[in-house]
Amino acid sequence: FSTAHDLVSKPTHAKVGRVPVGLGKRRLRIVVTGGAGFVGSHLVDKLLDRGNDVIVIDNFFTGRKNNVVHHFGNPRFELIRHDVVEPILLEVDQIYHLACPASPVHYKYNPTNVMGTLNMLGLAKRIGARFLLTSTSEVYGDPLEHPQKETYWGNVNPIGERSCYDEGKRTAETLAMDYHRGADVEVRIARIFNTYGPRMCLDDGRVVSNFVAQAIRKQPLTVYGDGKQTRSFQYVSDLVNGLMALMDGEHVGPFNLGNPGEFTMLELAEVVKETIDSSATIEFRSNTADDPHKRKPDISKAKELLNWEPKVSLREGLPLMVRASPSCHHPNPFLCSS
Ligand code: NAD
Ligand code: UDP
Ligand code: UDP
Repeated sequence: FSTAHDLVSKPTHAKVGRVPVGLGKRRLRIVVTGGAGFVGSHLVDKLLDRGNDVIVIDNFFTGRKNNVVHHFGNPRFELIRHDVVEPILLEVDQIYHLACPASPVHYKYNPTNVMGTLNMLGLAKRIGARFLLTSTSEVYGDPLEHPQKETYWGNVNPIGERSCYDEGKRTAETLAMDYHRGADVEVRIARIFNTYGPRMCLDDGRVVSNFVAQAIRKQPLTVYGDGKQTRSFQYVSDLVNGLMALMDGEHVGPFNLGNPGEFTMLELAEVVKETIDSSATIEFRSNTADDPHKRKPDISKAKELLNWEPKVSLREGLPLMVRASPSCHHPNPFLCSS
């Protein structure tokens, strides 16, 4: 018996997607949509390491072939250039659905969250695969509850500049739950908080990549607004461990996956100075509309039910980015993927 509020999966059926990991006679076949992106490519590395067969579906909107090129030639790895907004036929056991333009400079251009999620749920339904949605802390909007628990319904502006992303992910969660309740699809929902690490495109507009790129290029760190807004930053390996624990466990979620360490943007700039370039300076810029004032996950539910918690602190994780992140150096961020 658990005290945390959660939906536990319905009893298993004789479908291939419901064979527990490691117990099936054959290798698990897993699709990762958005697998050529930042988070997806780290997940692919770990799944292949574990001995699974992995198919990546990606349209390279923000992802890069380079992120997965080290698996080319591996017979257990396959890369399909495909836009998830279009239907696709495949036979797999699990679907990690990450495809989505995830940075503010990209996400307003694309209906991926709704159409892509619908197609992947339709696929999961047809083949009896387990489906994991990578939702986001943005579903909490500019939260009136702090820190945010999964039970909080959020404070989102439905017509603002960020709504395409926030409301898109909220709709994706709704679709996932509808397919779970109405079509018996085994779903898992992760609400991911700000995540950083190697392979993040340095020009994608997110604060960690901006500050790191600026520090490397000896440019001032651009702090938006007064810099007192807060975020919690999670290192990518912690997130990947959480996603796999969620997929392989028995709980639908939603689960917050994030690092509860909370920093103002000014404090983040200080950590960048400490760990990357002590001579970095700060330049204030006006903030974007509807910017959430604070955000910090309450992760008690994931700790209790998934036995998961993040291990890497910001001071340990930030320097690891510098060595491995590709820099796009192009004025047009859409060309990051080329
Ligand atoms: P990313 O941009 O690096 O990865 C997204 C991938 O999806 C890219 O490879 C992109 O080319 C691909 N993609 C986009 N639209 C597609 C489409 N229509 N068809 C096929 N592929 C498509 O971003 P990320 O940071 O790795 O994010 C991965 C997932 O995690 C996203 O769903 C995002 O919303 C979620 N998330 C990330 C964070 C974070 O801080 N990184 C926070 C919350 C949620
Ligand atoms: N879909 C897909 N691959 C499949 C099965 C379905 O891409 O193997 C798509 C399908 O084209 C549709 C969506 O998933 O756009 C939802 O499918 P579902 O069967 O749930 O709905 P329906 O097609 O009955 O409207
Ligand atoms: N931000 C900033 N400087 C930048 C980019 C972003 O101060 O160069 C701020 C932004 O206004 C927001 C916070 O950093 O308050 C996090 O922004 P990001 O886009 O990384 O993530 P999200 O807002 O989606 O959490």
